[in-house]
Amino acid sequence: MTVVLIAAVAGLLIGSFLTVVVDRVPRGASIVQPGSACGNCGLRLGPLDLVPVFSWLALRGKCRQCHTSIGVEPLVLEVSTAALFSLSAWHFGWSWRTPAFCVLMAGLVALTWIDLRTKRLPREITYTTAAIGAPLLCIAALVEGEPKRIWMMLLGAAIALAIMALIYWASRGGMGDGDVRLAPLLGGYLGFLNPGFAPVGLFFGFVLGAVVGLALIAVKRAGRRTALPFGPFLAAGAVLAVFAGQWYVDLLLAR
Ligand SMILES: [Zn+2]
Repeated sequence: MTVVLIAAVAGLLIGSFLTVVVDRVPRGASIVQPGSACGNCGLRLGPLDLVPVFSWLALRGKCRQCHTSIGVEPLVLEVSTAALFSLSAWHFGWSWRTPAFCVLMAGLVALTWIDLRTKRLPREITYTTAAIGAPLLCIAALVEGEPKRIWMMLLGAAIALAIMALIYWASRGGMGDGDVRLAPLLGGYLGFLNPGFAPVGLFFGFVLGAVVGLALIAVKRAGRRTALPFGPFLAAGAVLAVFAGQWYVDLLLAR
């Protein structure tokens, strides 16, 4: 239980940092300097304005000085990151897998939010997530005495990249290259668990994308060519495969 609590608190703090990341990375601005400020009156935010969730609730999502709404972004990012961190800690317990998968969750929260708003998946975030996550997965594999998992990770990444490259080629522009860059990151993580999870995660993503896409066409009469950001579905599919991949594979094999 302790590990879930620690992960929840870490998730709130990282989620708060992701608010800065999703705002600045798409603009190419530094995520370190300057400190956070109100976009309307320029009030520099102090430690009391930056307590995850609590500050937002206390100020009801408004700037302390000019009362301009700061939107739901900080709350959504903090709560969803904390939830995914807690779920990872609950699933993996006290092990190197927990911090490794928390890195993936943080990257996916940021990528999902940016893709929904800008229809882009910044390569900086995909590469940073891989650069921090891959060494942690390698440490986990070695500490667990299963170095073969490093090869499983590479195999998963290769499988996911091959599938997405094929779809990219076949869709002739229907799929963004950000989605292709994201695939080996997801495949690597899923491959670490089981290389078979890599195609399962992509499959989950495509099913989710198709269901939501069809629902949107039905509800909003959106055209078939309406571009739907695909990153969030890939991310959701991968998260689903992390936690439910084994269940799904067992289901397939039981038949
Ligand atoms: Zn203000």
